Amino acid sequence: MTQITPDGLTELINADDGPGKPLQLIARARGVPQAGQILIGVGACGVCRTDLHIIDGELPWPGHPVVPGHEVVGTVLEVGADVESFAPGERVGVPWLGWTCGECRYCQSGRENLCDRARFTGYQLDGGYADHLIADARYSFRLPSEYGDAEAAPLLCAGLIGYRALAMAGEAGRLGIYGFGAAAHIVAQVARYQGRTVYAFTRPGDAAAQAFALGLGASWAGDSTQAPPEPLDAALLFAPVGALVPQALRVTAKGGTVVCAGIHMSDIPAFPYGILWGERRIVSVANLTRQDALEFLALAPKVPVRTSVETFPLEQADEALARLRDGRINGAAVLVSGRTGARV
Ligand SMILES: [Zn+2]
Ligand SMILES: [Zn+2]
Repeated sequence: MTQITPDGLTELINADDGPGKPLQLIARARGVPQAGQILIGVGACGVCRTDLHIIDGELPWPGHPVVPGHEVVGTVLEVGADVESFAPGERVGVPWLGWTCGECRYCQSGRENLCDRARFTGYQLDGGYADHLIADARYSFRLPSEYGDAEAAPLLCAGLIGYRALAMAGEAGRLGIYGFGAAAHIVAQVARYQGRTVYAFTRPGDAAAQAFALGLGASWAGDSTQAPPEPLDAALLFAPVGALVPQALRVTAKGGTVVCAGIHMSDIPAFPYGILWGERRIVSVANLTRQDALEFLALAPKVPVRTSVETFPLEQADEALARLRDGRINGAAVLVSGRTGARV
């Protein structure tokens, strides 16, 4: 259902209060930013696998209609009271972490990504599959000027979560990356910049993804069932496939780490203790901190990370999601609003 919206109303796509339903484009009154908030005219919004997990009902439904999208790039249109960090006309990015309590034991120990009461953009909070968005200024970020709106969008989740996952790999020199999509294509560039050797693992037979990985500096690319030329010091798993955990452990050297970077994964099959033995570790990565965002957004233009994006009009969000579900996106899918003034 598509409605033509008159000026001054927000167009947004809404999952209609329940998983498994097609998105709808609806009109809604444009809000007014309250104290601490900014009203953003959305120029671009990345499409992330987490959006699929929400829409497909693989994550708990939040109990209200969802406006997905947590890689939001736009322009500040209005600021609420007490906002001094942004002014109208500035470009801004809004990531997944939308609010934290500041009081719990996680918030108070530099781990706000684990906040017990955290609220997330495009899930509990309205997201960027829209032409306007109201966000908390404290969880919004300036973006490097080198990137257009669509190119900057994947930095905000694929880049940030990828960066946090890479940090979990410690000093690993021989890095395996499983699932060569939006996050992997950014992480591979950062890893090469840091002097690591990258081995890319894709769905069996996905020659296009393997060629893409080699083009980004991977030393080797193969099927996820194959062994790399040498054992890994760390493996980053971006594909939501639990069976990859024992597969990655089998090709990881003693003392190495398998990092599960997705918010959802199918069950991990039982495996013999022998492939974990030798101080191998399995860890997960959850969300991001604002410190991650500041660090990565400063690092990206130095690498320089180049994002490979495929753009879709906002109205074609379902098509973009379907192609992501089927593995038919190379790099990152990004919705563009066509809003006047967007930097594309
Ligand atoms: Zn907290
Ligand atoms: Zn995401």
